[in-house]
Amino acid sequence: MHEFLDAILAGAPGDELAAIPLPESFRAAFVRKEDIGMFEGLDSADKDPRKSLYVDDVATPEIAPDEVVLAVMASSINFNTVWTSIFEPLPTFGFLSRLGKESVWGARHDQPFHVVGSDASGVVVRAGSAVRNWKVGDKVVVHCNYVDDQDPSAHDDSMLSSNQRIWGFETNYGGLADLTVVKANQLMPKPAHLSWEESAVNGLCASTSYRMLVGRHGARMKQGDNVLVWGATGGIGAYAVQLVLNGGATPIGVVSSPRRAELLRAMGCEAVIDRAAEGYRFWSDEHTQDEAEWRRLGKKVRELAGEDPDIVFEHPGRSTMGASVFVTKRGGTVVTCAATSGYMVEFDNRHLWMKLKRIVASHFANYQEAWEMNRLISKGAVQPVLSACVPLTEVAEAANQVHHNQHEGKLGVLCLAPRRDLGIDDPELRARIGEDRIRAFERG
Ligand code: NAP
Repeated sequence: MHEFLDAILAGAPGDELAAIPLPESFRAAFVRKEDIGMFEGLDSADKDPRKSLYVDDVATPEIAPDEVVLAVMASSINFNTVWTSIFEPLPTFGFLSRLGKESVWGARHDQPFHVVGSDASGVVVRAGSAVRNWKVGDKVVVHCNYVDDQDPSAHDDSMLSSNQRIWGFETNYGGLADLTVVKANQLMPKPAHLSWEESAVNGLCASTSYRMLVGRHGARMKQGDNVLVWGATGGIGAYAVQLVLNGGATPIGVVSSPRRAELLRAMGCEAVIDRAAEGYRFWSDEHTQDEAEWRRLGKKVRELAGEDPDIVFEHPGRSTMGASVFVTKRGGTVVTCAATSGYMVEFDNRHLWMKLKRIVASHFANYQEAWEMNRLISKGAVQPVLSACVPLTEVAEAANQVHHNQHEGKLGVLCLAPRRDLGIDDPELRARIGEDRIRAFERG
């Protein structure tokens, strides 16, 4: 891989990169099929990604005509890597074996290892014969919506396609590696003013938040809306807050420490709730929710915003869904994409139907939504929320931090990039936006 790296760092043109032979194997972070049962009987919190995630060489797969091979400069930790590495809610090898049965090319994914990771920035080093819009040498970022363009159901909203998958979670050969294989329709231009690691952290989380709030399939936020954002300095929450502010709406951000409250205020979010300081107990025991606590949250939101939220940006799931449905304004929308604390959620349906509220389900983003989000980042209208960066060898430790809510924003991962701050091609735009804004989460 060092030949590719040297050539990329020297700014070699596409024909030089194309002449470098692909290695037979490459370094990647993966879980092993033989370990599926290793955490049986343990609580989620005790399942340790440091025991299940390996970094070692895997064989380089062949590419299909509609795919490219990417030299991955940087990637990021997403929560789906936590799920894969603790084999919850189910082992991801089932996804790989189903994909393996779909086609000859699908069969490459069905391996006794699963290379994880659903974000990447890097350089195209091979392009399949059917790839038209991208060429070797292009600097790109990857979005994780993996769709079959021969499936008719993929041609309205590709997130509705019957075999839609998340690359690096429901497919093999994800982004936490020195090489990855992706479909050409997962590629987007790398934001020129950002480093490799700043470019790599946005794809999954920012696009998810865009669809939830801005895209026509989500909550369709409008100017003046009040938007309650759970986990407002976390991965998706920190992009949500920026989109709310950009859209002329008012964020009410929920976090769990004074440090995060400060970071949120520095982002321009004036209405901040520290849920730890407030001590909310929405569940009085494992089976019972406490409406008085929902009411206390609603009162706090009214104190801060003057009104009930038009939209609640929901993802913690079981611990908060009852409260989210309760506090949403009459006719308002709870938009949900996840259930970090448990997927068997419970809410009082009377508050939903009597007050004509809606729950909108959202999942990642289609190519157009991801592209529009990438464009906002490339224009400097939304900033990366990179808080720290680790080398690929420390991916398991970083996944463990995300598992235990010990990070803010996004954790970046240097794959081929030998150090931070490489890959910035437009220093003028960067200077206009300002280091303080671009690095807000690192400095916060
Ligand atoms: P993250 O970086 O860990 O942030 C999650 C935030 O949620 C944390 O910062 C935390 O904030 C808050 N939180 C955690 N547990 C909570 C609880 N019990 N009650 C209230 N708040 C809680 O994760 P992320 O990347 O933002 O992802 C969040 C969830 O969305 C994950 O489950 C992930 O798998 C899912 N997701 C889904 C999609 C999709 O396409 N469907 C895409 C991206 C992410 P405080 O502790 O500061 O309050």
